[in-house]
Amino acid sequence: MKNSKNVQKYMFGNGSINNLKQILNDKESNSNYLIYYIDEYFKNSELFYKIPITTNDEVFFVQTKDEPKTNFINDFRDILISKNKNNPTAIIAIGGGSTLDTGKAVANLLTNSGNAEDYQGWDLVKNPGIYKIGIPTISGTGAEASRTCVMTNPKNGLKLGMNSDYTIYDQLILDPDLTKTVPREQYFYTGMDTYIHCIESLNGRYRNAIGDAFSKQAIALCREVFLSEDMMSDENREKLMVASYLGGCAIANSFVGVVHPFSAGLSVVLDTHHCIGNCITMNAMEEFYPKEFEEFNLMAQKQGIKIPKGIASNLDEETYQKLFNSTIIHEKPLSNALGDNFKEILSYDKVKEIFKRM
Ligand code: NAD
Ligand code: ZN
Repeated sequence: MKNSKNVQKYMFGNGSINNLKQILNDKESNSNYLIYYIDEYFKNSELFYKIPITTNDEVFFVQTKDEPKTNFINDFRDILISKNKNNPTAIIAIGGGSTLDTGKAVANLLTNSGNAEDYQGWDLVKNPGIYKIGIPTISGTGAEASRTCVMTNPKNGLKLGMNSDYTIYDQLILDPDLTKTVPREQYFYTGMDTYIHCIESLNGRYRNAIGDAFSKQAIALCREVFLSEDMMSDENREKLMVASYLGGCAIANSFVGVVHPFSAGLSVVLDTHHCIGNCITMNAMEEFYPKEFEEFNLMAQKQGIKIPKGIASNLDEETYQKLFNSTIIHEKPLSNALGDNFKEILSYDKVKEIFKRM
């Protein structure tokens, strides 16, 4: 039976980012500097000037063109060691899933020897990481609440996080004001990650009452947001931030299904970003999730969002083989969705046909 952990503290509400300084003042520590990971979108933005950065602190702007890779995390660790800044009072990550995961991974790596790739898996992190604060600026991945931080190892193509209780944030600041500037398409793609994760869990075999409750409420909020007139109204940005948090709590208590493995294939082979990859995959999922397929399309239509089509319709055989391999490797979610004999259903020809349909 699982002994589950959640984020220790969270503060929710418009303007809550203004309490960061107080939260830091209240934190006892032997060191006198902080490390910030900030989505590079916010360089010189209004938000940036609200952050109480001092001259002792180290600030890194995180690029989001590529999603986190293990070597990025190792490089961040090396820079901090070379500057003798590897024992901060806190690590503070401000941004989307990519930035939040970077903060988590560096926090673990600073207190554990070896490299980021050594901790890709389940419960491999030995020592508690550096105290960390997560401040999401886009809602949907649930990275703010989950016990993983997704990274790809470019050497072997493995896309897997450090699944560990030590990966969970100690403190969150959930400020819906921060998501005002997200481009509409990106807002939809990332928001849908929560919806897709939760419908996958609820349609799976490995269920439990608490995971189900988190998932059901997250889906209910997604429906309110994405079936309304304006998914980005003040009220809806607040609701989606809550849905994302609950979706992240659900991840810890459940498994995904067919969508995430296919999306992971796109991401490993074609470098497609996670959330748009889920949406592209969703368009080929009618036979596995018929009701949700219909609802997903209704939501996209209602919000005027076009999902790219044809990204994998015309590839060479070698690329389809790579896509097949990097999809079918995800045994846990696929057997959750389709049973232990999932390979009989997802033959090479079947998988190729699904990619062609996307
Ligand atoms: P992201 O962090 O990659 O950001 C997406 C885009 O939105 C970027 O261009 C970014 O600059 C922009 N952006 C973010 N906030 C903004 C704002 N307020 N205004 C304007 N632009 C803004 O995207 P994401 O979709 O949040 O995260 C995807 C990553 O999360 C992937 O690496 C995925 O693997 C990971 N993920 C992690 C978990 C987990 O549990 N740890 C779960 C799902 C996905
Ligand atoms: Zn996801």
